[in-house]
Amino acid sequence: IASHEMKTPLTTAKGYIELLLLSLKEKNQTALYATKANQAVERLHNLVSELLDASKIQNGQLSYSITTFDFNEMVDEIIDNFQHSAKNHSIKKSGKCERLITGDRGRLQQVLINLFSNAIKYSPGASSVIIQLIYNKVTSKAEIRIRDFGVGIPSEDINKIFERYYRVEVEKSKPGLGLGLYIAQNILLSHGSRLTVQSESGKGTTFCFSLPVIQKK
Ligand code: ADP
Repeated sequence: IASHEMKTPLTTAKGYIELLLLSLKEKNQTALYATKANQAVERLHNLVSELLDASKIQNGQLSYSITTFDFNEMVDEIIDNFQHSAKNHSIKKSGKCERLITGDRGRLQQVLINLFSNAIKYSPGASSVIIQLIYNKVTSKAEIRIRDFGVGIPSEDINKIFERYYRVEVEKSKPGLGLGLYIAQNILLSHGSRLTVQSESGKGTTFCFSLPVIQKK
């Protein structure tokens, strides 16, 4: 209830800041303040959304809106958005899977956005993130891998990162609540899938999941 109550005025504030930004024609100091306020409200909105999603999962109340859509197209769209905002990383995609899948587009997008953001956040010294998308003929599934060349995850933590609020001790200076992977794993489990991870400290991390495709386009 608390998360929900916080989200409502935040959404209103976000809307008004966006209107303010639109009405500011010049790129002056006022526009800069409005942009900063917009970014802060956006961050807060995302944090409250994570808290709300986690409590919905706990209560078995996370609902799904299932449609059929092109997985490859969705992945390309997210890569495009990231490529515009990621300052120091280039997102490289290899392979494609032009097949239709059935699932909640918004929720699966949320999973990928979380994995892409983590790949960038936890690889400050690297310059690329690799997204590998393939159609596995044997399993008839679309498989996606998100590979970074960052800090990696210590072996003693690897089984705990999907737990609610779990964060690796040495990475706690980075912003986050430790809920993203918990939410992502639950969304994928609800789609009959599972997020797996391979990682080596100091070398990088690869997250992977697959989804059944329903027909050839
Ligand atoms: P958050 O990033 O908000 O802390 P997540 O649930 O997304 O929460 O991730 C949980 C923890 O797993 C992170 O705090 C981090 O320690 C670790 N982690 C997640 N993704 C990566 C990654 N790509 N590389 C290294 N560590 C990661």
